[in-house]
Amino acid sequence: MDEILDGLPQKAKEKHAENKKFFSKLKQRPPKDLDYVMQGLHEAEFERTDCLTCANCCKTTGPLFTNVDIERIAKHFRMKPSQFIDTYLRVDEENDYVLQSVPCTFLGADNYCSIYEVRPKACREFPHTDRKKFQQISNLTLKNVAICPAAFNIVEEMKKRIKF
Ligand code: SF4
Ligand code: SF4
Repeated sequence: MDEILDGLPQKAKEKHAENKKFFSKLKQRPPKDLDYVMQGLHEAEFERTDCLTCANCCKTTGPLFTNVDIERIAKHFRMKPSQFIDTYLRVDEENDYVLQSVPCTFLGADNYCSIYEVRPKACREFPHTDRKKFQQISNLTLKNVAICPAAFNIVEEMKKRIKF
């Protein structure tokens, strides 16, 4: 996995123009069965990919924390939300709460998440490849393919399956 992760930013860079063109067409003409296709591609990819051998999302980006996330996780630690924010979070340029530093504080050396049951919604949903109306998150996906090998593979499969 380390080798795959090392090469991923360069591979994503090489595919960027092609991916951008593909997503622009996808936005204009999303296939009627796109949600169904994405579900299939997502499930097939995550049957092959073991996130515990990777954790690159937790190591390099980290999620944003909604207020609901903060309340739930603070409760888990028996902390006040404000205490949790002061200890672990900062406000980013877009006014969202994010981690003070990456790799994520809650990531163990074994790649397990120590707050898995109460982890932020963004962590549960990353890399968002099974969400409905996938064409609406093209810009985010263009970034995620450089971080997440599963997202990279899913986009490569999409381009084979969906022809314009
Ligand atoms: S979601 Fe992607 S980046 Fe995160 S651990 Fe799984 S394969 Fe790696
Ligand atoms: S909270 Fe857990 S799943 Fe989310 S980035 Fe941190 S270690 Fe990863």
